[in-house]
Amino acid sequence: MVMVSDTRSERQDEGISAPIAPPSVRQQVRLPRADVTETTIRAKRVTIRYGDFAAVRDVTLDIPDRQVTAIIGPSGCGKSTLLRAMNRMNDFIPTMSLSGTLTYRGVDIYASKSDAVDLRRRIGMVFQKPNPFPKTIFKNVAWGASINGFRGNLHELVERALRQAALWDEVKDKLNKSAFALSGGQQQRLCIARAVALQPDVILMDEPCSALDPIATAKIEDLIDELKALYTVVLVTHNMQQAARVSDLTAFMYMGELIEFDATDTIFTKPNQQRTQDYITGRFG
Ligand code: ADP
Repeated sequence: MVMVSDTRSERQDEGISAPIAPPSVRQQVRLPRADVTETTIRAKRVTIRYGDFAAVRDVTLDIPDRQVTAIIGPSGCGKSTLLRAMNRMNDFIPTMSLSGTLTYRGVDIYASKSDAVDLRRRIGMVFQKPNPFPKTIFKNVAWGASINGFRGNLHELVERALRQAALWDEVKDKLNKSAFALSGGQQQRLCIARAVALQPDVILMDEPCSALDPIATAKIEDLIDELKALYTVVLVTHNMQQAARVSDLTAFMYMGELIEFDATDTIFTKPNQQRTQDYITGRFG
């Protein structure tokens, strides 16, 4: 489905001022060809530090439009750091610094004039632990639209978002009940509805199922599969089976580096790099 090439397409460099990666281990990383599908988020030689420590090192990858891209790798390899950089969630950490270029639809995410609030509306995030507000189910979903001055029909918006999050049938008769009355799995789908209600372009998910039981996990995985028709999804997971089940593309990271990025089938059946093979066969991690 996704074609791969060993060299990066010239098209990737249009309009972006970052240097072209020198011949190095980076070029051994097989990247999906940029002309196969549009790129939503592009990382080019991105290094992210906390103080002196480089948690993400020289990562280049293209996140394609309307697909699910999983980022896998052992704990501490930099998955969340990379994901959070995509909507500037790391801005809240004073020691964090980023070099290289991270663009969203061609616009530099870290350009000083870019508006982080607007960016986070377009690039929503769902966290590891469901974090509904201490408000009703309705207000949780309507919240973002209300503060953004939404003038349309709020009820329609809330219903649509809850339907997209596969939660409507379970909550339609209790919209004015507290979100805390829902189960963990329902709360996580509520958080997805809250993200969806902002009509984003991209949804970042950071281990969205790690606090959930297997049945709730299966529901979220089914939902992710449906969401990609409308949104670009980037999913960080330590659960390889989950990546294999739900993603189209998989990026394997190890100790801050992107080791391999390819179609999920390829990563899990015939990876190009020995370290990927070792990881997916459980030799470490
Ligand atoms: P992963 O998501 O793969 O588990 P993280 O991105 O959370 O990895 O962390 C990558 C590395 O950065 C780890 O060594 C972690 O300890 C470190 N790290 C993460 N957050 C911070 C922080 N706020 N300050 C300093 N170091 C951090």
